[in-house]
Amino acid sequence: MQKENVIIIGSGPAGLTAALYAARANLNPLVISGNQIGGQIAITNEVENFPGFDSILGPELTDKMKEQAEKFGTRFEIDEITEVDFTRGSPFHLKAYGNEYEAKAVIVATGASARRLGIPGEEQFIGRGVSYCATCDGFFFKNKDVLVIGGGDSALQEGIFLTKYANRVRIVHRRDSLRAGEILQTRAKANEKIHFVWDTALDAIEGNGKVEAVKARNLKTGLTETWQTDGVFVFIGHFPNSQLFKGQLAMDEQGFLLVDKFMQTSAPGVFAAGEIMDPIYKQAISSAGHGCQAAISVERYLEALGDKELA
Ligand code: NAP
Repeated sequence: MQKENVIIIGSGPAGLTAALYAARANLNPLVISGNQIGGQIAITNEVENFPGFDSILGPELTDKMKEQAEKFGTRFEIDEITEVDFTRGSPFHLKAYGNEYEAKAVIVATGASARRLGIPGEEQFIGRGVSYCATCDGFFFKNKDVLVIGGGDSALQEGIFLTKYANRVRIVHRRDSLRAGEILQTRAKANEKIHFVWDTALDAIEGNGKVEAVKARNLKTGLTETWQTDGVFVFIGHFPNSQLFKGQLAMDEQGFLLVDKFMQTSAPGVFAAGEIMDPIYKQAISSAGHGCQAAISVERYLEALGDKELA
């Protein structure tokens, strides 16, 4: 059993910022990073609203945050926590695939994952034309036709990115007005390769070994059409990665962890930061802010425990 002062679960902006602050407080934090260091921002193309950077690529921002946390002593383990016991108080018991841990305090920063449409063909064609990441898969759609589903910032930002490759990008939205911010709306509307399809939902994705067509339904007229296309990129929001904590930590009906103003969850000594507890703002910078808060709270919690000896 590996004993730790503080384990940070997750390595997006929340986890990496918590790591930086915990490391600088001499807590010798361990980050269990999950499969992909950086979380959602690491698969984002361009980030233009992280203060201090005019424009930076998501993976580059992740690398910088990780390096900064490492510089002050953060350790990283590329593993996934599979089981936690927060019911018996500190120290907490955590199991990963590769190891078992005991931690005096825990910061949960497991973020959120892309929501799925839940229509026939979607699962079947993941990696064969259905994608949730334009940065990862855009390249495979050179001179092709793609659909982007959603009307928020992600749909527009990723749709604009896809015009680098695709001949035509149809943004299919279930309403006739966008949720996305003004800057992205203006950019998307000015892009000749982007076409908006309003009031429309997909009922099915079809093909033979790869995506070839979709069944699209106009939600106002009820009219259903078959459209030929090569790809379907889905950006319809995210759900919090909190399944692991069911029955252990209080959460709302959507699965977002409930925290107090010190970022403490319903289990004293377990804190949460980022999109796992934020159903509203969901920005890299707000998640980073939560990570900072959670780490400062951990420091105070360990001080109050009266045994802040270093692991
Ligand atoms: P979002 O803001 O929740 O937008 C999700 C979009 O998907 C909405 O337009 C929604 O339609 C639509 N939708 C939801 N469920 C659907 C379904 N079952 N079928 C079809 N359409 C569905 O999610 P997001 O765009 O991923 O953004 C998440 C957060 O990250 C936001 O706070 C956003 O500001 C932020 N973000 C910011 C940037 C940036 O600043 N550049 C970039 C990316 C993300 P309705 O509009 O009808 O609800």
